Amino acid sequence: MPVSPDLPECAGKGFPMSAVPREQATLSGPDAPTTVRTLQNFIGGRWQDATATQFGEVRNPAHDTLLARVPMCGAADVDRAVQAATRAFPAWRATPPVNRVRPLFALRNLFEKYFDDIARTITLEHGKTLDESRSSVRRAVDNIEVACGIPSLMQGRSLEDIATGIDCTTFRQPLGVFAAITPFNFPAMVPMWFLPHAIACGNTFIVKPSERVPLSQVRIFELLHEAGIPEGVVNLVHGGKEAVDGILEHPGIAGVSFVGSSPVAHYVYKRCGETGKRCQSLGGAKNFVLVMPDANMDRAAQVSTESCFGCAGERCLANSVVLAVGSAYDEMTRRLVEEAKKIQVGDGLAPGVTMGPVITSQHREKVLGYIEQGVKEGATLALDGRGYQDAKNPNGYYMGPSIFTDVTPDMVIAKEEIFGPVLCVMKAGTFEEAVAIVKRHELGNASSIFTSSGKYARDYRWHVEPSMLGINIGVASPMAFFPFGGAKGSFFGDLKAHGQDSIEFYTDKKVSITRWF
Ligand code: NAD
Repeated sequence: MPVSPDLPECAGKGFPMSAVPREQATLSGPDAPTTVRTLQNFIGGRWQDATATQFGEVRNPAHDTLLARVPMCGAADVDRAVQAATRAFPAWRATPPVNRVRPLFALRNLFEKYFDDIARTITLEHGKTLDESRSSVRRAVDNIEVACGIPSLMQGRSLEDIATGIDCTTFRQPLGVFAAITPFNFPAMVPMWFLPHAIACGNTFIVKPSERVPLSQVRIFELLHEAGIPEGVVNLVHGGKEAVDGILEHPGIAGVSFVGSSPVAHYVYKRCGETGKRCQSLGGAKNFVLVMPDANMDRAAQVSTESCFGCAGERCLANSVVLAVGSAYDEMTRRLVEEAKKIQVGDGLAPGVTMGPVITSQHREKVLGYIEQGVKEGATLALDGRGYQDAKNPNGYYMGPSIFTDVTPDMVIAKEEIFGPVLCVMKAGTFEEAVAIVKRHELGNASSIFTSSGKYARDYRWHVEPSMLGINIGVASPMAFFPFGGAKGSFFGDLKAHGQDSIEFYTDKKVSITRWF
């Protein structure tokens, strides 16, 4: 695998870059393609070569085989997309909302038709199991379905006689070109949190997917094209930091929806503020699950295990720290280890597998580094997934589930987002002590409590900041018709993803005050 010796910052976390020539390479391996394609951008209704001269590699984490080469675009390719989106905006804005959603209905049907095809593409490039990929495609469809309701959702409000003979009406109007910059962990779903709502509101759109998993978006853009969305309304530009900077600096972009790690989320939010763009920026997570002694321990252990190790822990809603109160600690520890031992690691396409590989070999090294760190800090490694070997797929980026007990809040493994299959278990003496630990953490994406007491559940919801809260729920994931996003260092902005917030974000509210003589 050719890796540039001076890995630029835009490579993202551990992503290998290579200035490879554009010609197609041949390949043999278990992933079917014998010719590796170089991906194109989708701009102005057609696929076109990027002007980029550097390319990254999209690899299948289950086998470490090359799936495609992705152009690492910069400002020039972004500008092409902005120009196409700007040209398309006046006609799209003038298209009545009821007509704008017709191609979205068609898109929804195409998603159903190619459901398994999209899910398989996700598993190939990301590694998660086929069932996990299917669930994420279902969530993408949910978002398209909600956006189909725009003729109702984007209505304004009005009041007759704000003074005698004077009426006041608010209209929601689209703002122009928006862009979404998305992470690797949900290749199909996260861009669909934004694109359907933005274009249904009458804006035009650019997606910059994660350079590690661009194939699902390529497939989805084929479907957007087939659905009859007019040229220039949706555009796809590949790349990493340089493409992101091209978006942030471009004066033709009205707003940015970002999802990724907190440092980059904060950077994007700050740059948007400086360049006068709207911004909703969703960052990283360290999600606590509080288990009270009165909880149903069977369910708490089972659900927390699924929450932590689902998608190999690469989920912003994963419960990565179990905070067991009082006598819940010993029982939870024992049950969590028992549950985690049932996990079947392997190729996400293989039947019976319940946890796939992590995204890259570099990311596996990073997660292994956190495990070393936890051992050094004195936590007890009650389940050690480091030595996991997959005999059928020796080159895949696999690791088994790991569980640390005796974790304390000051340890690095308790403070930092690991984003891998590692669960930390902590003990708190009382409910109040547990609440204080959650409140002290700088991130606040999601959290859960397991209890049979309505009082504890209510108090927990009242006191802690994470904005996606589960009561006896492991993955507190808001559906497409509710807002999605966290608090504290996990979210920068005012309006969250999807739900009614989305309509607010993608429209201006114009107030018209009228008197007739
Ligand atoms: P990431 O921050 O590395 O990348 C996200 C996007 O930013 C990608 O498109 C990438 O190309 C771009 N990028 C990377 N480095 C950049 C830089 N230095 N400057 C400008 N742009 C840059 O995140 P990731 O590793 O792809 O995804 C995992 C992270 O995303 C985790 O922290 C996870 O918690 C978070 N996430 C959050 C949510 C949420 O709802 N809050 C949802 C999914 C994922």
